[in-house]
Amino acid sequence: MQTAQRLKKIPPYLFMTLRNKIKDARARGVDVISLAVGDPVDPTPEPVIEALAKAARDPANHRYPTDEEWGMLAFREAAARWYKRRYGVDLDPAREIIALIGSKEGCHHFALAAINPGDLVLVTDPGYPGYKPSIWFAGAEPYPVAMREEQGFLPDLDEIPSDVARKATAFYLNYPNNPTGAVATRAFLDKLVEFAQAYDIAICYDNPYSEIVFGVERLSFLNAPGAKEVGLELNSLSKPFNMTGWRIGMACGNPDLVAAIAQVKSNTDSGIFNAIQFAGVEALDNGDDFTAKMLEIYRVRRDKVLATLRELGWRYDSPKGTFYLWVPVPKGYKSAAFCDFLFDKCAVVVSPGAAYGRNGEGYIRFSLTVNDSRLDEALKRMRETLPKLEFP
Ligand code: PLP
Repeated sequence: MQTAQRLKKIPPYLFMTLRNKIKDARARGVDVISLAVGDPVDPTPEPVIEALAKAARDPANHRYPTDEEWGMLAFREAAARWYKRRYGVDLDPAREIIALIGSKEGCHHFALAAINPGDLVLVTDPGYPGYKPSIWFAGAEPYPVAMREEQGFLPDLDEIPSDVARKATAFYLNYPNNPTGAVATRAFLDKLVEFAQAYDIAICYDNPYSEIVFGVERLSFLNAPGAKEVGLELNSLSKPFNMTGWRIGMACGNPDLVAAIAQVKSNTDSGIFNAIQFAGVEALDNGDDFTAKMLEIYRVRRDKVLATLRELGWRYDSPKGTFYLWVPVPKGYKSAAFCDFLFDKCAVVVSPGAAYGRNGEGYIRFSLTVNDSRLDEALKRMRETLPKLEFP
């Protein structure tokens, strides 16, 4: 059977590969603990589930959710209230917000809505593995912009060659950052807007971890003056409300880009089940305390992992954002080789940094979205099985 040429460029999706590895090992009877995927095991808040159940019983919600093509106005209004309350950002629900099937969908549909074949598109390296395939699907080419530890994993915009910046038409970024756990600053966001204005680059600011920060202010790209003129922000209910399986998020910001995504979507999918949108309203309006509780859970888990890593020889500071720990590999290992070593010794799976881009080599990523007893067991195995490790 013929399959599309464009698929030949796309590497296997990282987490599919890891899932298969885990499945195979479990089939062989190995008690695998995965600290790889960022997918909370803790449940969605009960009132959100109740709101879904109530809305699911109403036959009006059983029909195509296309009456309001950009997502239910009630959902978009709740998103606007959340942005105002949590970030101090004003959004017009009628023109500046569209509901999404998660921010991953937004990354993909932004590419189809904003990028032309042959374009050059800036993308941070390391970066979320979803960006490059979307850029390729749009017929464009990604250009990696390095993020380095010594610069707090924020790209140095002055380092981007001016001929590249002039040719580039879009830029994908994400802070709080997967995989590094780095956070942006207001100064960086201001500079990003200036850069986008100077080179006429559309910003796709992917912000599903906006709520997962420790000891620093929550930031939206839209906090930066002029941000709405140069781009949009993708956000999601997945991470703050443990709703990864529900598939709901939003794109907010520049009205032309939001309308362009709406045009792609109306020719691609038929929107999000209304009952899920009603549940989303409940999460956005009443979920702040729940998010705070989850942050405390992640803080405790993070400190446990840090204590074990330090015992084993790692020198590594707490990340300020996300529920990931991005730690250097010991001396003598490449990232994939160290992941294999950890898997063979402890049956613990973590993500290899190299899967996030060339600059991800030399790191591995731990996710804190596993339950406490499994995390404790993984750390116990590491303490009992790993030798004292050496670092450069
Ligand atoms: N963007 C980044 C940077 C992510 O890490 C993830 C999920 O891990 C997503 C997007 C996808 O999130 P959603 O569940 O909202 O589609």
